[in-house]
Amino acid sequence: MAAKGAVRGMIFNIQKFSVHDGYGIRSTVFFKGCPLGCLWCSNPESQAAGFDYSRSSLRCKGCGICVAHCPEGALVRGEDGSILRDAQKCVMCGRCADACPEGAINLVGREATVAEVLAETAMDGVFYRDNGGLTISGGEPLLQPVFAASLCELARRQGMTTAMESSFAAPLEHALSVCGHLDQLMTDIKHMDSKRHKGATGLGNERILANIGEVRQRFPALDMLIRCPVIPGFNDDEAHVERLARFVGSLPGARLELLAYHRLGEGKYANLGRPYPLAGVAPLPKERMTELRSLAAAYAPPPAQE
Ligand code: SF4
Ligand code: SF4
Repeated sequence: MAAKGAVRGMIFNIQKFSVHDGYGIRSTVFFKGCPLGCLWCSNPESQAAGFDYSRSSLRCKGCGICVAHCPEGALVRGEDGSILRDAQKCVMCGRCADACPEGAINLVGREATVAEVLAETAMDGVFYRDNGGLTISGGEPLLQPVFAASLCELARRQGMTTAMESSFAAPLEHALSVCGHLDQLMTDIKHMDSKRHKGATGLGNERILANIGEVRQRFPALDMLIRCPVIPGFNDDEAHVERLARFVGSLPGARLELLAYHRLGEGKYANLGRPYPLAGVAPLPKERMTELRSLAAAYAPPPAQE
């Protein structure tokens, strides 16, 4: 028990009172690092395994105090007056963040032990004891399998239910080691065609589909929700939705949720100094999402009502 509490992991946020990350009210622990690079990712700060440097253009007043406090000469003022960072020189020391009077700079990520995470979420149990629990998300929890499994195992011993949001783009043994400590699994299929999957995420879907099938077999009682972010022009055609729904329908007890594409993460890209890959892509109309959900429901059950 003590050894598992001491396992360290890299996370970037613990969100309290979440209602979108599993059944009931949940505390969601966001892990750093992801093997995929989905074009529509709404948590781009989760993708790198280490720290990310973020500067809010809304908060920054352009005073230049951060430039003066950088010991590495990594920050300079550009010709247009903006503050530029040389990522090659930056050592992520955080002095600029400490010096900024506006709180505009954030080094995203922190190390924490399992015990520290559970201490932060312990009080939440008062609110969700009978209807909620702990969710691990990311990023990709399965990139840190020992931390993920220890966190879920000890959370359960404290009486919490556990859920995981995972891409399943990880070795099978990592998935198995965590799934044994879960009450609910939420995993994604972005596209049933591996080439198209790779084009939009960086990896094919073979391992993901194989992991889903294997976990379904080995943990037949595990509540399994498969989600698909519906991206206009990528996977929103009827043929794809039907193929996806038939696959999910073949997995005993699995449910399928089609998620509407949104652009809520767009501002984070600017803060990280990265272009938003899907600039100009508009979300689908609600009516179209309703049509696609009706089509999917003919082959696979929709998410359970809470
Ligand atoms: S110190 Fe803060 S407010 Fe001033 S330029 Fe730097 S980031 Fe902007
Ligand atoms: S984190 Fe440190 S090295 Fe990087 S820009 Fe800020 S002060 Fe400079």
